[in-house]
Amino acid sequence: MTIEAVLQHNIRPHLFGLKPYSSARDDFKGQADTWLDANENPFTKNGDFNRYPDPHQRALKEKVGKLKNVDVSEIFLGNGSDEAIDLLYKATCTPGVSNVIICPPTYGMYAVQAGIFGVEVREAPLDADFQLVTDRVLAQIDESTRLIWLCSPNNPTGNLLNRSIIETILSNTRALVVVDEAYIDFANESSVWHQYKNQYPNLIVLQTFSKAWGMAGLRLGVLLANPQIVGLLYNIKLPYNINTLTQQLALEQLANVTQKETEVAAILMQRRTLANQLLQTEGILRVYDSQANYLLFKVKEPILLYRFLAENGVVIRDRSTQPGCEGCLRVTIGTQEENERFISFTTKFLTQNGR
Ligand SMILES: *Cc1c(COP(=O)(O)O)cnc(C)c1O
Repeated sequence: MTIEAVLQHNIRPHLFGLKPYSSARDDFKGQADTWLDANENPFTKNGDFNRYPDPHQRALKEKVGKLKNVDVSEIFLGNGSDEAIDLLYKATCTPGVSNVIICPPTYGMYAVQAGIFGVEVREAPLDADFQLVTDRVLAQIDESTRLIWLCSPNNPTGNLLNRSIIETILSNTRALVVVDEAYIDFANESSVWHQYKNQYPNLIVLQTFSKAWGMAGLRLGVLLANPQIVGLLYNIKLPYNINTLTQQLALEQLANVTQKETEVAAILMQRRTLANQLLQTEGILRVYDSQANYLLFKVKEPILLYRFLAENGVVIRDRSTQPGCEGCLRVTIGTQEENERFISFTTKFLTQNGR
């Protein structure tokens, strides 16, 4: 399968001929010291915030490329990976015609965005171990399928999806297969990107700096794809999607790999401690193995426990209405102190009430 065939099949035809907005900074590429091209206020106060940001995020992309060992031509930076999800729908889906496939229980934004765009969502549920079922996915694919959403490690279940099944899906469709690796830094496997990018031009990988890198408030997500797909997304994004402050601060923080690794190691240690504590707590019916920075666990009365925790100032996530997640709550791994508060109130609820 060639990238041309992938583009032809998935990209909305009118976008090939689109003339993208050309910003002031696109039109002039040389050196200058007098910038009178963008109707900016010339008075610099704190920082360079009177000037528009680099629409191509050149410095930041360079840094991200080095960090992830990926060529800059394969990188799209988004205002969170949620922006990348939005743009993938914009680029590929025709309302009322196209369809996408999700594998529930999974991250909610895939279906929310489909709803916004008026696109049919087909479901290929994960099995009882929250693993992909090859036939279920393949059975949902037809000529109008544009995006297949695979989340690995999966949110909210925490497990990695089976790599050979991901490959089987990639090799059996011309649709774009999006592997959302928001939590890959917490997992004991590396990205699927390097392994499959050359063989499967329909592979798209999403990553983010919101989770392991601790920059959720800055809004910075990464999409890895074939350069032709990346180019197309750059043509349809808003010109200044990553603001100056985010570009500057992210560039600074990405220099500190050691800090990030130390924090991830601490979170992984806390994950093990918390999992063991939950397993030893009477009334906890199950704790699922996690390759991410959260734990999914099962109790008899999830809503009551959720409310009890909330009344005591501890907020976790109720996932019990998700398919296959009956009785399940999801707790993010916090600091040791936060986790201890969570476990002590949980124990109190479960033992006091004889639940
Ligand atoms: C948190 C999360 C995201 C969104 O990340 P942002 O980069 O903050 O937009 C994407 N996918 C999954 C599975 C997530 O859990």
